[in-house]
Amino acid sequence: MTDVTIIGGGPAGLFASFYSGVRGMRARIIDVQPKLGGKMQIYPEKIIWDIGGLAPKPCYEIIEDLIQQGTHFDPEICLEEKVIDIQKVKEQHFIVYTESGNEYHSKAVIIAVGSGIIKPLTLDIEGAERFELTNLNYVVQSMQKYKDKHILISGAGNSALDWARDLSEYAKQVTLCYRKDEISGHEYMSDLLDQLNIIKKPSMTIKQLNSHPNEPIITEVVLENVTTHEQEIIPVDEVIISHGFDQDADLLHQSQTKVKLVDEFFIEGIGNCQTSVPGIFGAGDILKHDAKIHLIAACFTDAAHAANLAKSYITPDAQEEGLVSSHNDLFKEKNKSVIKKYMS
Ligand SMILES: Cc1cc2nc3c(=O)[nH]c(=O)nc-3n(C[C@H](O)[C@H](O)[C@H](O)COP(=O)(O)OP(=O)(O)OC[C@H]3O[C@@H](n4cnc5c(N)ncnc54)[C@H](O)[C@@H]3O)c2cc1C
Repeated sequence: MTDVTIIGGGPAGLFASFYSGVRGMRARIIDVQPKLGGKMQIYPEKIIWDIGGLAPKPCYEIIEDLIQQGTHFDPEICLEEKVIDIQKVKEQHFIVYTESGNEYHSKAVIIAVGSGIIKPLTLDIEGAERFELTNLNYVVQSMQKYKDKHILISGAGNSALDWARDLSEYAKQVTLCYRKDEISGHEYMSDLLDQLNIIKKPSMTIKQLNSHPNEPIITEVVLENVTTHEQEIIPVDEVIISHGFDQDADLLHQSQTKVKLVDEFFIEGIGNCQTSVPGIFGAGDILKHDAKIHLIAACFTDAAHAANLAKSYITPDAQEEGLVSSHNDLFKEKNKSVIKKYMS
């Protein structure tokens, strides 16, 4: 039986996996997505400024480092597995059940499910999915794709506005369409969009996608005014839909073993990362405690804390905290290859 099952492979789950290794525990990460990285995979090219000790850099670089660190102690990785139930059989024996019928046994569980399973809301137009491999985008994976292009962005939330601002530097033209007559995102954004020469199309919604006669490529978008129903055709190279996310956070409600929740959503962190069920711990965005902030940086303290608590639960006479890496014998041998790299 594995020591710790970690549900969620975002920054909290990955650091919990690393820290479980530091504490001499075998970990397993389960995530429904095909890749590790959690929500950070939604914004790989955004520049992240607010992680202590890291100079601003694109999110994908941080994801790469997190994965390298989180898999360092060879945890078992189970991707594309949706966890649907957690059962405490007895002290130090939990079963985590997945939708595909698998059962995972472990001595402790760390829940690091973030905001649940999130999927971008898709465009409600018949046949739209055939353009998803070409120029209909729900996530901006690479800025390069949009260089010198005519881009239409649909949506007026914070993400849509951020993409409009960031892409306006590279694109030939950015047009922003949204259902409301005013922008609902950051207040200062409306003026900024004007300064950046972004064309705003308020009260407009996407009615139709016109495509190339022989290829699944959108060439024009038909916009329709939500009140007058007047239509306008916009030629496009790329379309970005930013209508928010569909969120599946049913796990904690439907699980046989129930952890106490706050606001019917978050795990109540007792003394930070402990839950109402001994042996189940929480980390990252799903957790709420008095000192909680919902930032990547905060995932790391939660994760180390949860792993320390799991260690004490499984091995009650173990030290409460792990040794820092600079004093830890575990890293003495491993340091040699890192030092070699820096000396060369
Ligand atoms: C657009 C955007 C920009 C952001 N920018 C910043 C920023 O600049 N700086 C910053 O500090 N923070 C930022 N954040 C917040 C940051 O991404 C989160 O705080 C962080 O990702 C939380 O990490 P986590 O590991 O708790 O959860 P997540 O990253 O959400 O990972 C949770 C994982 O659990 C998986 N999961 C959920 N339920 C199940 C289930 N039932 N079965 C299997 N797997 C499951 C999910 O698939 C997901 O991979 C941003 C967030 C967004 C959306």
